[in-house]
Amino acid sequence: MQKLSAGLKQEGRKIGFIPTMGYLHEGHISLVNKSKSENDVTVTSIYVNPTQFGQNEDYGKYPRDFDRDNSILEKAGCDILFYPEDSAIYPAGYQTYINVQEITKVLEGEFRPGHFTGVATIVNILFNIVKPDRAYFGQKDAQQCAVIQQMTLDLKLDVEIRVMPIVRERDGLAMSSRNKYLNEKERKDALDLFRALSMAKGLIENGERNTELIEKKMMEILKSVDSSAPDYTRIVNSRSFDREQELREGVSYYLLIACRIGATRLIDNFLLTVN
Ligand code: AMP
Repeated sequence: MQKLSAGLKQEGRKIGFIPTMGYLHEGHISLVNKSKSENDVTVTSIYVNPTQFGQNEDYGKYPRDFDRDNSILEKAGCDILFYPEDSAIYPAGYQTYINVQEITKVLEGEFRPGHFTGVATIVNILFNIVKPDRAYFGQKDAQQCAVIQQMTLDLKLDVEIRVMPIVRERDGLAMSSRNKYLNEKERKDALDLFRALSMAKGLIENGERNTELIEKKMMEILKSVDSSAPDYTRIVNSRSFDREQELREGVSYYLLIACRIGATRLIDNFLLTVN
């Protein structure tokens, strides 16, 4: 892959890159399509990165189906599928990790200690292998995008980070490989994340500016179903990820939710500007 990318670059071809953990859905494909429209060559990687999973998380059972993913990417017209083995990414003796500091201390960083170290490390490794001109990420993982943007800025990486909107099911549930874990009842309950976010958006549109009150109301919706165990409902400044007591006009915020539905941990968010 490194040689292939070096050759493409020598020919002056622009490389677009979509890092994924596979079990692809339309969210991933929207990134592939965007890359195809902006670059000469599109590379998608599939790698379930062990270093971003906590001890008690779902690394072992994360859904994997190479043949399914391969044919989805072929249909989508992705040029190159990069599918590395663990021994190529983290060979024996591997010992380098990347820690982005402030922005990883809250939210997902708080509830999944070490997660963003794994993310920043693998993305940096993949960037060095694939050498993309542009890399595509989903707003679904908003804090992950911010961490990668910070790393790219700090380490002077020569990659343009493109953040694309969340693709949802018809009823509003954000697409995720982990939705496969949900049984029929949980699938219905999972819609509460979208409901809570929509309700909060409505409150803000109707003039509510008190962050804590809106967060509490989102939490109440999540707690109203018995299969749910929320980690957080939080509203943060979309640039700094800082929490502000009162929402301010003209400022953009992420409304963020992380919630377990049964045994499945889901995240979702809305990005909005207060008028
Ligand atoms: P994953 O395979 O879950 O690591 O995701 C790979 C990339 O796809 C990440 O940049 C995600 O943010 C993005 N992604 C995941 N779900 C969605 C979605 N529903 N809409 C848009 N992008 C998504």
